[in-house]
Amino acid sequence: MNMNVEQIKKSQKEGAGLEPDATERARLRAQVVDYLEAYIEDLPRGKAFQRDSGPGPNLSRREQAPDLQHLLNILRQEVDPPGINAASGGHLGYIPGGGIYTAGLGDWMAAVTNHYAGIFFGSPGAVRMEHALIREIADWVGYPAKSTGNLTSGGSMANMIGIVSARQALQIDSRRVRKCVVYSSTQAHHCLQKAFRIVGMGEMVWRDIPLDTQFRMRPDELQRQIDTDIQNGLTPSIVLGAAGSTDTGAIDPLDALADIAEQHGMWFHIDAAYGGFFSLLEEEKHKFKGMERSDSLVLDPHKGLFLPYGLGVALVRHSSPILAAHHYQANYMQDAQDAQSEWSPADLSPELTKHFRALRLWLPLRLHGLKPFLAQLREKLLLAEYLAKQLPDLGYKLLCQPQLSVVTFHWAQGPEASWDRHSRDILMRLEDHGQIFLSSTRLQGHFVIRAAILSFRTHLDTIDALLDLLRKFRPSLEE
Ligand SMILES: *Cc1c(COP(=O)(O)O)cnc(C)c1O
Repeated sequence: MNMNVEQIKKSQKEGAGLEPDATERARLRAQVVDYLEAYIEDLPRGKAFQRDSGPGPNLSRREQAPDLQHLLNILRQEVDPPGINAASGGHLGYIPGGGIYTAGLGDWMAAVTNHYAGIFFGSPGAVRMEHALIREIADWVGYPAKSTGNLTSGGSMANMIGIVSARQALQIDSRRVRKCVVYSSTQAHHCLQKAFRIVGMGEMVWRDIPLDTQFRMRPDELQRQIDTDIQNGLTPSIVLGAAGSTDTGAIDPLDALADIAEQHGMWFHIDAAYGGFFSLLEEEKHKFKGMERSDSLVLDPHKGLFLPYGLGVALVRHSSPILAAHHYQANYMQDAQDAQSEWSPADLSPELTKHFRALRLWLPLRLHGLKPFLAQLREKLLLAEYLAKQLPDLGYKLLCQPQLSVVTFHWAQGPEASWDRHSRDILMRLEDHGQIFLSSTRLQGHFVIRAAILSFRTHLDTIDALLDLLRKFRPSLEE
């Protein structure tokens, strides 16, 4: 018995390092703050992209480090440099994220307090905060008061929640799945097809509806395809709209799609992971008309609200399908379920235990107010317009006028057979240079360069620097 107590005390002493005292906490914190301050201060001089040069010597080491400085040095040498610097305003590839500082402070507090955000009983405050944010975002996009949703890890999970809710609402089970049709376009984000596969709807009939010249789904073609499918004994089930496609930022004609979906009793899901928050701007609202009529909707605060990676939003108009998909009961949860006066996030998502991710959104929103977010969004749209206006003067051809903050262009001079080679070449030169990172896609059969302007650190000087580089890296005229 005594022996046992001795062992307990010995183990306690050996484990004490996991609870640094106030002095030690201050010492560690200061080193992390120094590291982060240097990181932020160096951003304007640093690169947005650096090619990987293979693993360094330290990341896979397993022994205890002599001190925190040593570990921060490994970060500086082996983690920070290679790849895309997502904190850089020069990141204009894919869809940039952000990483506003006050959201980082929210994350830090969420981790240290470790409130249990999955279950109402565990932390009514944390869950109320999540639901208040869901309500606020639902109001922004015009969703009704009875709508609900979930703060997810990102757009992919949020899209999956929307799709699995559709499955419940339409009762697409294994007997019916092959007769049910989903209508999308080639511009849908690949995470949607992935979600259909994961939730057991991969066997649905998938129709890519033709696009107009602005890469938007054509409602007349959608209607035509639905009529054909009905004649052939299929069941039109889901329409996937994009409110800001990843490739071009195209916004489908949402109101027209909503009409068609309604008329046929279909589920209308909108992926607004990239573009959704632009609808907060009064002058942009008209482009999103009909978004509020969808059955499920996805937004990504880690894109359009400049948050660090790790926050998406799933909204659903009705609570019953999302609950039917995710609600559960377990014996070991009985006290939690009895005490619940609001739904728990765990009833609305595949996750049980989750990071208290509401805090990273709530803190910056309440601290800064919405105004600087709106100004940033407006600035990004104006920068896209500014870039698109000047590219033709440098000899580049736009694929379309930007609808939001994505600009697509390529080198389309000389023989068509060489366009792709030139465009790819220009992109490679930009990557080698590293100051500004762009990505590419394929549109109308061609290799196309994309500039996606969404980082809160991208400003006029960034775009001017990009224009300089694009001037410099043009194919030489004698070719
Ligand atoms: C980024 C994006 C997604 C995927 O979201 P993640 O947050 O990366 O999981 C889905 N759809 C669109 C339109 C996107 O831009």
